[in-house]
Amino acid sequence: MNPANEQIKNYINGKLLEPKSKHYIDNFEPAQTRKYSETPDSDEADLELAIQAAELAFPTWSTLTAERRASYLRKISNLILEKLTPLAQAESIDTGKPIQLSSTLDIPRSASNFSFFADATTQFSSESHMSSSGVFNFTLRQPLGVVGCISPWNLPLYLLTWKIAPALAAGNCVIAKPSEVTPMTAYLLSQICIEAELPPGVLNIIHGYGNKIGAALSKHSKIKALSFTGSTVTGAEIAKVAAPQFKKLSLEMGGKNPNIIFSDCDFEEAVSNTVRSSFANQGQICLCGSRILIEQSIYEKFKNELVARTKKLKIGEPLEKSTDIGCLVSEAHFKKVLSYIQMAKDEGGKILCGGTSPRGWYIEPTLIEGLPNSCRTNQEEIFGPVATLIPFKNEREAIELANQSRYGLAASIWTSNLKKAHQVAAQIQSGVVWINCWMLRDLRTPFGGVKDSGVGREGGLEVLRFFTESKNVSVKYE
Ligand code: NAD
Repeated sequence: MNPANEQIKNYINGKLLEPKSKHYIDNFEPAQTRKYSETPDSDEADLELAIQAAELAFPTWSTLTAERRASYLRKISNLILEKLTPLAQAESIDTGKPIQLSSTLDIPRSASNFSFFADATTQFSSESHMSSSGVFNFTLRQPLGVVGCISPWNLPLYLLTWKIAPALAAGNCVIAKPSEVTPMTAYLLSQICIEAELPPGVLNIIHGYGNKIGAALSKHSKIKALSFTGSTVTGAEIAKVAAPQFKKLSLEMGGKNPNIIFSDCDFEEAVSNTVRSSFANQGQICLCGSRILIEQSIYEKFKNELVARTKKLKIGEPLEKSTDIGCLVSEAHFKKVLSYIQMAKDEGGKILCGGTSPRGWYIEPTLIEGLPNSCRTNQEEIFGPVATLIPFKNEREAIELANQSRYGLAASIWTSNLKKAHQVAAQIQSGVVWINCWMLRDLRTPFGGVKDSGVGREGGLEVLRFFTESKNVSVKYE
């Protein structure tokens, strides 16, 4: 499983195939700012092969018992766990994220995605409704057919499998399109699926550019549903082509999440988790808190402690166990984040720490204050190790600031007053709220955003409903 110098292949009909065109895209190891492998630049010809394979596999796969499908998913989950170390290394090399994160979060969670949905599909049930007039109704939940899953670069295997696993568990066949920026672990997953003897055509993984193979997948008439995670701009593009074909759509998109720190919080818990929620994975998690709203009375104390702890974070090689902060995923993203830091300065922001690049595509964890919530720095998603501090006077102002955003993915609230926490949680416009914690995930819960952060929910039984069509059958028994 050594990914160095590997020429990645597509996984189509159970085989590892070169792209028909034989064209490849350079794949980078961001910590070394160098090309280290190649990924297929796939096109419609590759997609057609995958669609044919998936259509051929669907009648058998969709009619297997849930237990039988679950057994394949469990095999895949076990193989991911067996290969945790090489997979975590591959993920860190490909993304620049610290190995402590890929080995404790990305890869274990990818295994859990398969084992969770193996279990969930055997527990999935549908409704029945008794009518008063001697009629009862039962609802069938049937798989859709061939579905598309498109995923981003920040949690490559974690988010890819978060889509693939429920789609397969529900009885669909899948064409998956991982990010061209971080294709390696998706390729290693193809090898695992072959080892697990997943029937050919059930899962197909096609690599390449979003605006080429991703767009082709989104508009293909044979694709019945699309599950997408990525930026809001791309989500809108996908909706534009997929909606007129009446495909089912699940869109998980950007965020600009508030962390609301009340003066009565458990200070230690709030400050240590704010460091984590601002800078985990270099701030490249859609759930990261990038707007830190702090009650005026503790603003200075909280700021000073936050800055002091942020300065202690160790920037280093992704494969070093002691590294807290790795590098950004690509040169383009590195430049984008730096340009946002410059913009924050131009808007009048004061850099409290960080703000520069020590080397390569690394950026120091950066905290900024002195900017109104309405400015671009506080309204646009930066998706890097950059967070701003904004004071608030009272509960009402905290809620107003939190909701003054086009986004609505996640929020965290820090207070020891549970009544206040519940009242604020109910008024926050977001799909996910954490009270006195951050990124605690129970896979049974609905996951997704409101406003420009998303349409639809992943997780638990919600996603099994998404990946199935309901059909009501009425029976007259009198
Ligand atoms: P992106 O939108 O650039 O790309 C995401 C995926 O879409 C990639 O596989 C890409 O190749 C593909 N794509 C690009 N253009 C396409 C098109 N026209 N048609 C079809 N597919 C296309 O996003 P990214 O830069 O890879 O990821 C970062 C973004 O993802 C951030 O905005 C972040 O907030 C978001 N994100 C959201 C969640 C969530 O759960 N809401 C989770 C992780 C990341």
